Amino acid sequence: MDYYSSQITKLIEELSKLPGVGNKSAQRLAFHIINMPQEQVANLANAITSAKANIRYCRECLTLTDTELCPICSSSKRDHRTIMVVENTRDLAAYEKTGKYEGVYHVLHGAISPMLGIGPGDIRLKELMQRLQGEVDEVIIATNSSLEGETTAMYISKLVKPTGIRVSRIASGVPVGGDLENIDEVTLLRALEGRVEL
Ligand code: ZN
Repeated sequence: MDYYSSQITKLIEELSKLPGVGNKSAQRLAFHIINMPQEQVANLANAITSAKANIRYCRECLTLTDTELCPICSSSKRDHRTIMVVENTRDLAAYEKTGKYEGVYHVLHGAISPMLGIGPGDIRLKELMQRLQGEVDEVIIATNSSLEGETTAMYISKLVKPTGIRVSRIASGVPVGGDLENIDEVTLLRALEGRVEL
């Protein structure tokens, strides 16, 4: 790519490291950015650096948030004895959009995948087990219905069962391999209401 200025090459290189951005898209984005007004570019760069600098993990549920305790964990209106375990913050947002779930969450930031070499120690399971030492009535496992999600669900149920805390799995009906965030709210609610005890 010597026919571009080295600055553009560098920009394309950085953009192509983003998930889902191939070399072609990276080139398109790079030229788009170059043609944007200076102020808009500054806003974009600023939003990226300040998001990275200020966003942190909630002390309780580990979702991404601006504050030490996320708005869900700090709300007294939520049922803190019911914990829904999700793979990531996007899945949490999908359930929040239904407006019907009143419990709290635990965000694993991944799923167990022997194929990708991601083991139980690589996701936030230890933190979940620590939370279960408090007063908890139910753990609802809402990992995706992919192979990784099911493996993770099975692993968690084995961990939780000996504690005597009720553990349930959201109903299938959520398409296999489907990412929770792409599923409509009605289907999500049905999956939650039809959850089965493990
Ligand atoms: Zn939280």
